[in-house]
Amino acid sequence: MNFSCPTCQQPLTLSETGFDCPNCERHFDRIALCPDCHQPLQVLKACGAVDYFCQHGDGLISKKRVEFTPAFIAD
Ligand SMILES: [Zn+2]
Ligand SMILES: [Zn+2]
Repeated sequence: MNFSCPTCQQPLTLSETGFDCPNCERHFDRIALCPDCHQPLQVLKACGAVDYFCQHGDGLISKKRVEFTPAFIAD
């Protein structure tokens, strides 16, 4: 899914830390969503690895399946 910068409407790029706007260089936190129920996932950090857990019955979600959305979308 593609998201646009709320300031300049340019496409945002997803990085390990969140979404960045290459045009106005703003940074936005990202939120991990469950691909099945689209609720925010609990982020579990252990030993340098990150796991994503759905508290709504879908259990552990593979990082490849996690849907990331900019935090401003979810507000
Ligand atoms: Zn921008
Ligand atoms: Zn879920």
